Amino acid sequence: FSFCDLPPKLLQNIEAAGYDIPTPVQMQAIPAALVGKSLLVSADTGSGKTASFLVPIVSYCANSRLRSSKNQKNPLAMVLTPTRELSIQVEEQAKLLGKGLPFKTALVVGGDAMAGQLHRIQQGVELIVGTPGRLIDLFTKHNMELEDVDIFALDEVDCMLQRGFQDQVMQIFRALSQPQVLMYSATISRDIEKMANSMAKDVAVVSV
Ligand code: AMP
Repeated sequence: FSFCDLPPKLLQNIEAAGYDIPTPVQMQAIPAALVGKSLLVSADTGSGKTASFLVPIVSYCANSRLRSSKNQKNPLAMVLTPTRELSIQVEEQAKLLGKGLPFKTALVVGGDAMAGQLHRIQQGVELIVGTPGRLIDLFTKHNMELEDVDIFALDEVDCMLQRGFQDQVMQIFRALSQPQVLMYSATISRDIEKMANSMAKDVAVVSV
């Protein structure tokens, strides 16, 4: 991982997680995401896809919090997943990679009290991880400042579409200000390609 220009603490966390060698999807997606490209990635569970979007997110958030004088409480990145369980796993991995860095996370999924989730976001977090339904619920009931969300990652998009989340995903996207989009799917259909191209210009396709 040292071929990427990552904060030293993040490299330490990657090593501590036991990720010695980047997987093929990480090898392709991480350098491209680090230079700000929007990506449509075809990757299965077990490929190391989660770290391939979390490493650029942690790196971006940690660097911009250290450098920026912008509102230090606004979230800088958001990850959507189709299920509560997947969101929990993604947030766990994000915490591991962001340990010791200016990088706090909030989990926004159904089944937990919304008040606690809202409170955590209001305290200031770098990353929000959640499912589309609960996120919409939270954002429509409470005014949220999402204009600093610069990276928008969508995991298992094929699953999100199967579950009928497309409109909710697009509604969340429209609340952001032209973020970098990192879209992941096991299979890439025409609909998924169209969705990616409607969200960002010059989307690079990564398949391994
Ligand atoms: P995922 O495809 O994101 O569900 O990841 C599958 C598993 O691989 C997870 O348990 C990760 O912790 C692990 N993993 C991710 N990247 C690496 C890596 N570079 N080397 C070894 N294990 C990894």
